[in-house]
Amino acid sequence: MRLDNGRESSNIEDRRGEGGPRRGLGGGGRIGIGTIVLVLVAMYFGVDPSIVLNGAGVMSPPTAESSRPPASAQDDSARFVSMVLADTEDTWRALFSGGGRRYVEPRLVLYRGATQSACGLGQAEMGPFYCPADSKVYLDLDFFAELRSRFHAPGDFAQAYVIAHEIGHHVQNLFGISAKVQDARQRLSARESNLLSVKLELQADCLAGVWAHHAERSRQVLEAGDLEEALAAAAATGDDTLQKQARGYAVPDSFTHGSAAQRAQWFRTGFNAGSLRACDTFSVAAH
Ligand SMILES: [Zn+2]
Repeated sequence: MRLDNGRESSNIEDRRGEGGPRRGLGGGGRIGIGTIVLVLVAMYFGVDPSIVLNGAGVMSPPTAESSRPPASAQDDSARFVSMVLADTEDTWRALFSGGGRRYVEPRLVLYRGATQSACGLGQAEMGPFYCPADSKVYLDLDFFAELRSRFHAPGDFAQAYVIAHEIGHHVQNLFGISAKVQDARQRLSARESNLLSVKLELQADCLAGVWAHHAERSRQVLEAGDLEEALAAAAATGDDTLQKQARGYAVPDSFTHGSAAQRAQWFRTGFNAGSLRACDTFSVAAH
C-alpha cells in the first residue's frame, strides 16, 4: 500500500502506555514472572528496562509478551494505522459532503491487552471492534501479528482492510443503521436476529471496499497484490474464525459475520462500485 502524502490522523488515542483494567494473575502492580521475562526481552533488544517496568500493570501473560514485536515495530505499525485512518477521514469526508452531509470523524484507540469502552471492557482476544456508544474503534496492534500467523492474511493492505471495516461500522452509526439494527434485533427470533447482524457486518465489508475504491481513485494507494490481501483477510475473518470479535457490540454470543465467501464478495462489490448504494446488503435475499 502506498501512502505517499503520509498524513497522520489527529484522532488516535494512544492508551498503550496506560495502566488499563488489570486481568490475569498477579495484578496489583506486583512484578511477576511475565514482567521479568519482559525485562530480559527488553534488555535483549536494547530497550531501557525501566520503560517496561513502568508499564508493568497492563502486561499480559509471559507467553504473549515474549512474542510481542519490539517497540520500534509497534511504532511503525501505529504510524501506519494513523495514516490509514487519515485516509479514511479524507475519503469519507468527501463522500459525505458530496451527499450534503457532514462526516464526524471517529477516534481510534490503540491499547494493549484490555481497556474500557462505552460498550464494556475491550479485550485483545475480541479482535478489533467499533463501539457505537462512544464512536471509537478499539485496536490492539498485536492483532496484526495474528492476522498474519493465525489467519494467514499477511500484508499491509490486509491491515488497512481491517481498519476500513471498523470505520465502515462508524459510517453505519452516522447513518443510524446500527441503531435501527440493534432495535430490530430485540424484536426478532435468534435466527432472524443473527441474519440481521450478518447483513450489518457484510455492509461494513462493502463500505471498506467503497473506501478502497475512492482511496485508489484519488490517491493511487494500491500496489500489486493489495486487493488480494484485503480479500484474503475478509475471507479469513469469516464467522468460523472470528466469533470473538463481536463482544464490543454488547450483543449475544451468537452474533455472526457472514461466511468467508460472503465477506470477500461484499468487499469486492463495494470496491468495484465505489458507491454506497451498492452496499444495500439488507435488501439482498439471504442464503
Ligand atoms: Zn464488524
